Order: sequence, then structure tokens, then C-alpha cells
Amino acid sequence: MEKVDILSLDLSELEDILSANGEKKFRAKQIFQWLHVKRVFDFDKMTDISIQLRHRLKEIFCINGLFVQKRLESHIDNTVKYLYRLHDGNFVETVLMEYSYGHSICVSTQVGCKMGCRFCASAIAGYVRSLEPSEILMQVYETERDAGVRVSGIVLMGIGEPLDNYDNVLKFLRLVSDKNGNDLSLRHVSLSTCGIVPKIYQLAEEKLQLTLCISLHSPDNDKRSEIMPVNRTYNIDELIKACRYYIDRTGRRITFEYAVINDVNSSDEDADRLAALLRGINCHVNLIPVNKVKERDYKTARSGVAEFAKRLGRRGINATVRRTLGSDIEAACGQLRRDAAEQSRNGGADA
Ligand code: SAH
Repeated sequence: MEKVDILSLDLSELEDILSANGEKKFRAKQIFQWLHVKRVFDFDKMTDISIQLRHRLKEIFCINGLFVQKRLESHIDNTVKYLYRLHDGNFVETVLMEYSYGHSICVSTQVGCKMGCRFCASAIAGYVRSLEPSEILMQVYETERDAGVRVSGIVLMGIGEPLDNYDNVLKFLRLVSDKNGNDLSLRHVSLSTCGIVPKIYQLAEEKLQLTLCISLHSPDNDKRSEIMPVNRTYNIDELIKACRYYIDRTGRRITFEYAVINDVNSSDEDADRLAALLRGINCHVNLIPVNKVKERDYKTARSGVAEFAKRLGRRGINATVRRTLGSDIEAACGQLRRDAAEQSRNGGADA
């Protein structure tokens, strides 16, 4: 019988499995806290559980760990980037960032990505599979352990499209915010999507307190379709309609992400069209100087981003420029995994 991935279970599921195996329900809470509060991932170390039950737990459950394959520390700003190896040999990336108010972590939701955004390194390395809730969660737990910190915020902006792994991402959100476990308020979580419209409607009904971020990157359908193929399925009008619905339903402000790319989406006309598109929407624009990806020659002029922000501001749109972190360690998502995947294809053992 295949073992159950215990870190992907919520408390009630754990209770059900224990009851079905003739165990007392209250044991579930004890075990849940060993895992999610004490972060003990070895049944033998759960000392207030009888040896007999520990033995039984090992028969029923598995605890899927992550292994640090590579760890890069920025000398500029203390950003740490992890390449994690999963139990099946695949790789994902996680980035730990330091801010004045604490630490924030950027987690991956899939091994690779199907969305094919032109400027993104994750698309170049190809899609393999979605992550389990436990694999998203363990990026947080393992990074906290390795770095000796407790993160105060999580962004789902690593490799993958979170809304293309909807059920597992939702489960992760419930686990990470569970009062009996990790207990992080979803107000400190941001979920970024390229714009899978039906899933935005579905997410609106969950009424979560998280911040929804939309990767917009152009106010023009032709241009957006060119750099983000998802726009051919869900165009800008449909996307903005879904965003308006989301804001109405949840009462939460949306963040629009916009990577400013020279000669692609950085003109005054782009700024004016963006401002017109977003007028009257309860939102915030986060401008991102485009991260260099070696396969592409997209560039940003830093001064151009500031000008773009000012122009939006003059048109009543609140915009900030994202700080560039970890510029000396390829912190843009997907770059380490792409290199590791390339090396193993070429027969190199060491990623
Ligand atoms: N799939 C999700 C989340 C992962 S990407 C999404 O598309 O939103 C997280 C953010 O980084 C997105 O806004 C994405 O468009 C942006 N991004 C990807 N590659 C980038 C690059 N080279 N430079 C700047 N931003 C990039």
C-alpha cells in the first residue's frame, strides 16, 4: 500500500485516518503539532507518542523532505536562494529575502511551468509536474530551519503558475495558516498569477485574506499575447473583469505586476494606456525592472522605470518600483533549476 504524505493532510484528514486505523482522534492534534509547530519530521522523535503507535505511523505515513542541493547567498543584501531536490529527484527554487520588517520567502508551486511567458526562465526549462501541498510547505519549513529565521511573509512567485495547481496551493494556504499549526495570517501571503480567469473567479469565492497579484505586463492585447501566451486564452478585458469581481467579492486590493521591458512595454503610451485600463480599480501597480535571463535580451533602464511610475502617478495610479534583490546570485526564478536540469541532461552529476 502506498504511504500517505502526512504533511499534505489537514488536521481533520489526519483525524479521519487515525480513527480508521483504530487510534484515538486526539492523537492527531499531537502529531500535527509535532510536524507543524515543533517541526519534528521523524516519528521516532515524537516522544509523547507510544512506541507502538510510532511504529504504526511509520507504516501508514511518509514524510517527504526536501534536500538543499545548492545554496547561494547574496553579498549585497543577504538574499539566500535555495535549489531544493525533491524526493523524486526533481528540483525547485526558493528565495529568502530580508526586509527591514523581517523575512519574506518566495516559494515555487510547480516543477517548471506550462505558461510560456517569454521573459521568464521557468518557462525555458519546461514543465514536469505540480507540487504537492507538503512540497510547497516544506520549502518554508526547511528554509526557516536552514536559515534559523521565522518568515513573516510568503509570496507564491517562484517557479510555476499557482492557479494551475489550484487544489494543492489552496491546501498549502490552509496548512500554513492553520491555527493549530504554523499559524501565519494569510494577510502576509501574496499569490501571483499570469491570469487564469476561471480560477480567479473560483479563488474569489474562497474569500481569503491574501493579496492577489496579477502579472499584467502590457495594457495591449497583441503585445501581451506576444509575451504571455495565456493572453490568447484569457484576454485583458476578461482578466480585468475577473479582477473587478475578485475585489468586489473579497474587499481586497489587487496588485498588478508590470515588468518594464525596453522597447516592449515601456513607452509613454504604454503608461497612459495602463493608467486608463486600471482607472477606478482598487489596485496598486508594482513595477519590476526586468531580470536578465541569459536566453533573452530583454532589458530595463532603471531611470525609465522611475519615469514610468511617475507618469502612472500623475494619472492617479498608485505605483511602486520593486527593489531588486539578490542581483549577484541569479535570484530571478527558474534560473538555477534550468541550469541543474541542463547539467543532468549533459550527464553532470553535480548541479
Ligand atoms: N506564474 C505566476 C507566478 C510566478 S512568476 C505569475 O505569472 O504571476 C512571478 C512574477 O515574476 C510574475 O509577475 C512574472 O511575470 C515575473 N517575472 C518572471 N520572469 C521575470 C523576469 N525575467 N523579470 C521580471 N519579472 C519576471
